[in-house]
Amino acid sequence: MNDFTMTIAGQQSATIATYPVEDPATGAVIADAPACTPGQLDEAMRAAQSALVGWHSDRSRRQQALERLADSVEGHLEELAGVITTEEGKPLAEARSELGDAINDLRYFASLELPAELIRDDEHTVVRVLRRPVGPVAAITPWNFPLGTAVAKIAPALAAGCTMVLKPSPYTPLSCLRFGELGRDVLPPGVLNVVSGSNEVGAWMTEHPIPRMVSFTGSVATGKRIATMVAPDLKRVTLELGGNDPAIVLDDVDIEEAADGLFANAFGNCGQICVAIKRVYVPSSRHDELVEALVSRAKAAKVGDGHLSGTEIGPLCNKMQFDRVAELVEDAMDHGAKLAAGGRPIEGPGYFFEPTVVTGVSDGVRIVDEEQFGPALPIVSYDDLDDVLVRANATHFGLGASIWTGDPERGGAIATGVESGTVWVNTHQAAVPGQPFGGLKWSGIGVEGGRWGLIGYTELQAIHVARG
Ligand code: NAD
Repeated sequence: MNDFTMTIAGQQSATIATYPVEDPATGAVIADAPACTPGQLDEAMRAAQSALVGWHSDRSRRQQALERLADSVEGHLEELAGVITTEEGKPLAEARSELGDAINDLRYFASLELPAELIRDDEHTVVRVLRRPVGPVAAITPWNFPLGTAVAKIAPALAAGCTMVLKPSPYTPLSCLRFGELGRDVLPPGVLNVVSGSNEVGAWMTEHPIPRMVSFTGSVATGKRIATMVAPDLKRVTLELGGNDPAIVLDDVDIEEAADGLFANAFGNCGQICVAIKRVYVPSSRHDELVEALVSRAKAAKVGDGHLSGTEIGPLCNKMQFDRVAELVEDAMDHGAKLAAGGRPIEGPGYFFEPTVVTGVSDGVRIVDEEQFGPALPIVSYDDLDDVLVRANATHFGLGASIWTGDPERGGAIATGVESGTVWVNTHQAAVPGQPFGGLKWSGIGVEGGRWGLIGYTELQAIHVARG
């Protein structure tokens, strides 16, 4: 898999240096990805700047191009799904679903408009308020949804009239590089430039004088660094960061139904989802029942190479994440936790870890307080609903949360007391077209999705005409 190339100014950019990319299911090196040099990054930034005026002045061209990009992803769906599974580890069905979301994003934003608002029109004055594209965007993305998180930026940014330089995670650059190659046939040169490389390339992008905005998805630690780095140049910034989503189970819940939803939303993509359920609070009176239901699902889940049919949970994406999950489980054990299911790395090559259900822990233990981002779910019991809301909110994170109940109206009323960008009732991670997504507190600044996501790539301009 060595034929992935960077796209700069609509063309293949020569590969000067490389770095290895691993298949997490085997630990084997599967590609030598291009390592972007400072000179190549500068070229990409200048291409994005040159393409800006022509791109933002022609809305129907943008609309058609985004539709054609969606067609192109559709036409290469199996190829791209295979690349995502090989670089990230997720089962093919999940890779296809990631691409389905990307196609929907491209089509949704192709059709979305932000019309000018006329706020005064009389014999003396006409005032219109427009939304202008913010300018060239530096987009930096993580590894868990390698192409999905990138397209969640590309679609609204390009629809708004911005141009972009995209850098995917060093762990999973291949699907984005391939997407950049497909874009060469569809987009004017310079509109979407795709480079790859280490974290250092992300830092160069953030500090580069050309982009007017940094659109970042990744960890809180890197998000904070980026917020600091953009300040001297007053670049706009969108930060989609980590979460530690609580699921609060109420006493009236149907345990079997809830266990299906909780398990799917905690262990999907091997737990490596920003809005995965990362801690479950359950009334003491329902604790044992729920643990039993989750344990039976954890033990039945088929863990393996994402390319094999029947695989439900793949490996962790990389050694760093694998070590972190193992460390958090070990720390929980040191603090008196019990392993109701799993708890150990799976012998053999690759970064496989048993689906793990941890009990006997509470707030104050790292696996409850921190983002584990892996297949290890702590179950915490509670006796008082008001108290558990305080505990769920006692965190710097505020990405998602969910309430699980036999009475959706009751759940909806409780939801408003939770401090997170989205609160679901009897589901988690679900979204309809047009729904915004973002984090409160340290989980982010700004949103993606819906018209609010498009607005994020624009700035207001007032045109005030005096008629005399
Ligand atoms: P990360 O912060 O380590 O890396 C993300 C990206 O930032 C990578 O492309 C990396 O190369 C780049 N980067 C690293 N250091 C940088 C620096 N100093 N300057 C500029 N760029 C830099 O995150 P990760 O481990 O790849 O991703 C996992 C995290 O992402 C989790 O916390 C997860 O919750 C979060 N995430 C959030 C969302 C969301 O929408 N809120 C979605 C997916 C993942």
